[in-house]
Amino acid sequence: MLNYIKTILLTSYKDDKVRQQLLFQLLNFILFTDAVTMTVVNIATKENILFWVTAIYAILCLKNLVLSRKSYIAKPFFFIETIILLSFFIVTGFPGGFSILWILMVPAVAMSVFGVKVGSVYSIVLFIDVIFFFWMPSGRDLLMYDYSDTYMLRFPFVYVCIYLISFYVEWIRQKTMEGLIETERKNRWLYRHDALTGAYNRHAFHEELSKILSNASNKVVGTIMLDIDNFKHINDTYGHNVGDKVICRLSDIIMKNICEHCLFCRWGGEEFLIVMRCEHDPMKIAETIRCDVEQNKMQLETGESLRFTVSVGVSFCEAADPEIFIERVNDVDKAMYAAKKAGKNIVVGFDQNFM
Ligand code: GH3
Ligand code: MG
Ligand code: MG
Repeated sequence: MLNYIKTILLTSYKDDKVRQQLLFQLLNFILFTDAVTMTVVNIATKENILFWVTAIYAILCLKNLVLSRKSYIAKPFFFIETIILLSFFIVTGFPGGFSILWILMVPAVAMSVFGVKVGSVYSIVLFIDVIFFFWMPSGRDLLMYDYSDTYMLRFPFVYVCIYLISFYVEWIRQKTMEGLIETERKNRWLYRHDALTGAYNRHAFHEELSKILSNASNKVVGTIMLDIDNFKHINDTYGHNVGDKVICRLSDIIMKNICEHCLFCRWGGEEFLIVMRCEHDPMKIAETIRCDVEQNKMQLETGESLRFTVSVGVSFCEAADPEIFIERVNDVDKAMYAAKKAGKNIVVGFDQNFM
């Protein structure tokens, strides 16, 4: 049971709603157990009124536990019932002025179960309640227990201190968690994507490819490899920033021309690989991309305009095994180098004669 609670609390820590829901259930369970125990203690110590109060509160906690899935009902009920119980403790002071100490628990518990906003509302309402009974003449008239003036004057200050510390701790926890979740999201993205273009990196490419090839009904019709021509010259002439923009522009043009079923990754520096899974002819898609790149004009900050071209290799395959498929990537590589040799800015389909 304890391990179960521990596992659930540790796995739910990222989702505030789930975590708060679980904490609410846990809180009601603890209060239920506590109220039952106190009911037994009250029988033993012959605290008759307290016996009824703790017994009723135990039933109410059980009800909240049962209703906890409908938290929009259970939480307001819990709020009202607890305020009534604590007001009863303040007024009667049962037993011997002790029960009022339960109030000091409220800010920390309310913050973690309801979050800083609702937790603060909860804590402030209770604070007003305490102030009414301890500092207002009309409230003091209602007190049945004879608290000392020092106690009534100082108790609210202790409460405020506990509230501020609880607020700070929960607020820091919330911010830290938000930061952690954001960092994790970014890391997960970077683990699978190329930071410059947003295309899949090779790691994600292999993962996705394995998924595709593990399903026999998936069809791969071919692969396309593209390499920017004379890219080193572009870098040397215009600088690496412009070189980066050229890589991004090529990535955008490729994405515009392939369908969602195609797998696309940045294979290396200025090389991209596409795995075609649609019914389109890989040679046609490759030629469309090559033409779009050739016609594309980039306007530089200096006012100059820059054009670039790509050499494209295409191979045709219907491989069912990722290992064999990677061998087919060698074919497309050879086709791309054949395109370079043939004078660049052309599309070359793989031919056994390349071997
Ligand atoms: P070819 O036409 O034969 O492909 O020649 P090339 O100049 O395009 O090819 P080469 O392999 O000689 O040069 C590629 C250059 O790409 C070298 C490397 O510094 C540059 N490069 C690799 N990755 C990046 C990058 O992310 N950004 C920029 N700006 N340059 C990069
Ligand atoms: Mg290259
Ligand atoms: Mg190149």
